Amino acid sequence: MSDSILSGVGGRGTIRFQVHELFPSFQFEGKHHGTRAFFVRFYGCNLKCPECDTPQDVFDFIPLDELSSRIRSEVEKEKFPLVVFTGGEPTLQPLPDLVRSLGTAFPALLAVETNGTRPEVLEKLRDLWITCSPKKEWTKESIELASEVKAVLGMTDPKAIEFAESLNTKYLWIQPMQRKDGTYNLLDTLRFIREHPRWRLSIQVHKLLGLK
Ligand code: SF4
Repeated sequence: MSDSILSGVGGRGTIRFQVHELFPSFQFEGKHHGTRAFFVRFYGCNLKCPECDTPQDVFDFIPLDELSSRIRSEVEKEKFPLVVFTGGEPTLQPLPDLVRSLGTAFPALLAVETNGTRPEVLEKLRDLWITCSPKKEWTKESIELASEVKAVLGMTDPKAIEFAESLNTKYLWIQPMQRKDGTYNLLDTLRFIREHPRWRLSIQVHKLLGLK
């Protein structure tokens, strides 16, 4: 794990972000399924899951003021009801500074997708909609802070699934894992739901539709 990924901060006094891409699409996962959203995909993750399908190749450094005004301008122009900070792992970036810069009267819901390894940052983001998708090295505090939990069968540590289920307050989503050969463990996922009825099926519809 490089220090630059961990800090997400450039020179002294200049807060900047490692951004892989900014793009409009729909949120097709979790409670906000079907909602138009503006996505900010940050670069870099502190886990190296073998089945990871997130692009991790290139990024631009974008200063705080520029990123904040680009997000604000997209939301005002296109009336996005939702902004999703995703990755990679967004909590490796100085996200609390960005949220502060967007302000409390920001006209869209702010959401963050995290692997749940950095609860000390999530704590500062507790006013956002938090989707925790634990894999390994997850923390109980992160799952407790989450608005919803998305597990991927075969990738998520079964102990994280068990812990999330023990908290009666969570939206729980279970997603089939895409294997290296392109197939999904869908039957296992359906069997899991039959045995754990609180979990709902999450399908990556954007992939089926050819969207980002
Ligand atoms: S936590 Fe997510 S983004 Fe990070 S390596 Fe694992 S699957 Fe990829």
